Amino acid sequence: MRRKLAAGNWKMNGGSVELGEIRTLMGRAATRQTDMLICPPATLIDRMRALLGDAPMAVGGQDCHTATSGAHTGDISAAMLVDAGASHVIIGHSERRQDHGETDATVRAKTTAAWNAGLIAVICIGETLQERENGQTLDVIGAQLSGSIPDEMTPATTVIAYEPVWAIGTGLTPSLEQIAEVHDFIRDQLGARFADGADGVRLLYGGSVKPSNAADIFAVSNVDGALVGGASLKAADFGAIIDALD
Ligand code: PGA
Repeated sequence: MRRKLAAGNWKMNGGSVELGEIRTLMGRAATRQTDMLICPPATLIDRMRALLGDAPMAVGGQDCHTATSGAHTGDISAAMLVDAGASHVIIGHSERRQDHGETDATVRAKTTAAWNAGLIAVICIGETLQERENGQTLDVIGAQLSGSIPDEMTPATTVIAYEPVWAIGTGLTPSLEQIAEVHDFIRDQLGARFADGADGVRLLYGGSVKPSNAADIFAVSNVDGALVGGASLKAADFGAIIDALD
C-alpha cells in the first residue's frame, strides 16, 4: 500500500512571510494519512527545518549538482542539502530541463548523486504541448523514464512526478483519462524494467493542481499524490489539497 504524498515546489518564490505560514500546516501533520514535503528555495531549507522541528513534514531541495563539492559557483550539492536539513530533492523539473539545458542523462547523474548523499529523488518527467498534439506523449514519457532513472531505483529512494509541461502554471490540466493513461503507462514501464519495487514507487501528478481539482485528480488510478507549484505557496490552499488526499 503506497502512502499518499503531497509535495510543494515553491520554485524561486517565498521568504520569511511564506515560511511563517507553514505553521498553520504543522498542527494536523501528525494525524494525517498523507506524507507532506515542501521544497522551498535553498535559502530557506535550514530555517524551515528548524521551524518544523519534530513535525512530520519533510523539507527538500529543488535541484542538486552531480558533484559532491568543488569549483561550481552558484551550485549546491546533495550533501549540502542534507546538511541543511533536506531529505528530498526535486530533479529534472521541466524548468531545469528548459532553462538549464538538463537532459535525461543529467537527471540520471543528479539522481545518483542525490541517492549517494542519502536523499530521496523526486524525478520529474512530462511532455510538451507540441509532443502531446503530435501524439508522442507516451513515447516521450517512455524515453524520459528509461533515460532519467538509474538502474538502482527503489521505492524508498524514488518518487516520480508526471508534469505535462503545458499544464505547469497555466491553469490547464489534462483530462482525468489522459492522466490515468500516463500514470498507468509509467507503472507498467517500471514493472517491465524493475523486477522489485515498481509497485511501491509513488507517482505524483503535477501541473495546475489546486483545491478545486485535487479530489478528482487524486481519484485517478496510479495517482499517489501531487507535486504542487503555485498553490503550495498559500498554506490554506496547500492544506486544502492535502485534505483532498487524506
Ligand atoms: P503549478 O506547478 O502547480 O504551479 O502548475 C507545478 C510544478 O511546476 O511543480
